[in-house]
Amino acid sequence: MGRLFAIEIIYRGIFQKTLATRIQRAIVLAAHNEGKVGISFGRYGDSPERNGIPAKGFAIVATDPTTLEEGMAKYEPKEVDITICVDDTLCKGVESWAWYGLQPVNRLLKPGGTLIVTSRETPETIIAMTHRKETPYNLSIIKGTVSFSGLWVYKDDHTDVRILGTVARILPDLFSLKSVQKAIVSEWKSELKAISAANAYERATSITVKPNQGNPEVPYKFDLPKWHEMRDGISIPSIPAGHKMDDPKNHTEGGFQPDRNPTFLKFSTRTMRPVVNFDTCIKCTLCWLQCPDSCFDVTPEGLYDANMKACCGCGVCEAVCPVKNCVTMVNEAEFKDNSSQWESWRQDKDGYKVWLEEKIKNPAERSHGFRYRGQYEEQIPEMLEIASGK
Ligand code: SF4
Ligand code: SF4
Repeated sequence: MGRLFAIEIIYRGIFQKTLATRIQRAIVLAAHNEGKVGISFGRYGDSPERNGIPAKGFAIVATDPTTLEEGMAKYEPKEVDITICVDDTLCKGVESWAWYGLQPVNRLLKPGGTLIVTSRETPETIIAMTHRKETPYNLSIIKGTVSFSGLWVYKDDHTDVRILGTVARILPDLFSLKSVQKAIVSEWKSELKAISAANAYERATSITVKPNQGNPEVPYKFDLPKWHEMRDGISIPSIPAGHKMDDPKNHTEGGFQPDRNPTFLKFSTRTMRPVVNFDTCIKCTLCWLQCPDSCFDVTPEGLYDANMKACCGCGVCEAVCPVKNCVTMVNEAEFKDNSSQWESWRQDKDGYKVWLEEKIKNPAERSHGFRYRGQYEEQIPEMLEIASGK
């Protein structure tokens, strides 16, 4: 039996699909250059994808066809050598179509495997977001703005080749830098991309994450019934309509909070979340009307509180709000929980104002192309600087 290599790529559905597919495919092509065989595929369960939904792709490579066949007997690998996470906020966990609740991003990593994350954050921040693992693993951060683009669009900012160069450094038995550069030039006809891969190869570093490091929380999970545990016939439990909200300050009851499906809660689905300035809101109802996931709870005084257990981070509320800077999409990495912004505001308005200013101080840091339509062009100089190795 030869050697089997497994790599998974965790990405944001639709916004990063093309990016993930390019990485998967190039891993297999680079390994081919060394006489290995392989296959890359997306996980069927993540399809049809929704905007921003965590999704996975895999590249499976073997030193010979028999080993590959044996390795592919199970559709999805049980363990991987490398997990590549192309959006750092996914380190909070993956909730792919709510099959099993929240899955730690490092769950499939072999002991001593490597988690590669593209991020501007420090290793400490990434480790704090990531659930603890019983065995040590390595963390390698590729410094840079997380690569996002609009619907189905690919942003050619060299994230793909920088990841490929890093993989060559971390797992040299899979393929060498030379083999991956050959695949890059053959696939994308770009010497500049091959140089970017070499720069990433030279700069790649990793640190060991120990079992006592990381987010100690037990990830949210539930067990779906097995087929033999289901009752005859089909019954679909309905969700109650909802109830009034309770003001935490004066206990006035009013407004409306819809009851939500307790199984399909959102935790890591979004890469950004809206923060609301309740002091400037004019109660126009547009965010409540336009939110595609019915996220807004109506408070007793008629304000609108985006419920983070329902929000997928699409940015529609920010786009439709007629009041300047009343709703601002902010990097999800800035938040540690799903608590109600309106309740914090009610409890301490001055404190909330300070919190709000702190959160929105750099709102243009991330984008999936919805609001900052010119951002792609704005980021080209940065991409060229990265490529030149300055
Ligand atoms: S970002 Fe706004 S509009 Fe989109 S799901 Fe969240 S609350 Fe709704
Ligand atoms: S769209 Fe803006 S102003 Fe209108 S209710 Fe929502 S937060 Fe308030």
